[in-house]
Amino acid sequence: MDENEKFSNLRSNMLNTQIIARNITDNNVITAMKKIPRHLFVETNYLKEAYSDYPLPIGFGQTISQPYIVALMTQELELTKDDKVLEIGTGSGYQTAVLAEITRQVFTIEKITGLIKRAEKILNGLNYKNIHFSNSNGYDGWIEEAPFDKIIVTAAPKEIPKPLLEQLTDGGIMVIPLGFSGWSQTLYKIKKDGKKIIRQEICGVSFVPMVKEET
Ligand code: SAH
Repeated sequence: MDENEKFSNLRSNMLNTQIIARNITDNNVITAMKKIPRHLFVETNYLKEAYSDYPLPIGFGQTISQPYIVALMTQELELTKDDKVLEIGTGSGYQTAVLAEITRQVFTIEKITGLIKRAEKILNGLNYKNIHFSNSNGYDGWIEEAPFDKIIVTAAPKEIPKPLLEQLTDGGIMVIPLGFSGWSQTLYKIKKDGKKIIRQEICGVSFVPMVKEET
């Protein structure tokens, strides 16, 4: 069995035991995760664990999210191919690839230069043409490209950053973990309905903190 076949088997196994078995039903999400070579997004010393049921370190004190959490957050976004999506916290770029498989345009923001450069290289290597990168602070969103149909945040702030709410279209959806790191955090699905903000709890989660700009 060659390397690619080996990883493809690990990927099928991940889909069956961690994703489909746990009620992820969105076919777009399943198809994307079946296709994307997750092992390219982890550090080489974790290659064997690339398809395991937990987050992994990616350097700079950050992590690539557990596959199930990527699937769950993406499913909750209710993506269609016409969506313009903003992602805060590019990290490894794996979640970015899942979004880019499903939607028209993805705008991704990462604070750590080393990480966004690494992610950009991997994603360009995989030939994605619909991803735009910004090495900046996610608290500000991406005003020049707003509004966004969907926003996904993969680091946890204490409350929803106001610019992100403002940059969400009316009827748009944001998926975001809120709370203190090391304490209990909750993943929320936020819907913007005119002036009304509807918050729905999804589950308890554990994310790295969304870092404020140093002053
Ligand atoms: N989706 C990523 C998760 C990476 S962890 C993956 O699966 O690989 C969260 C990322 O958010 C980290 O890379 C961290 O550097 C970034 N981050 C934290 N605070 C941020 C901020 N204020 N603005 C932009 N990115 C931030």
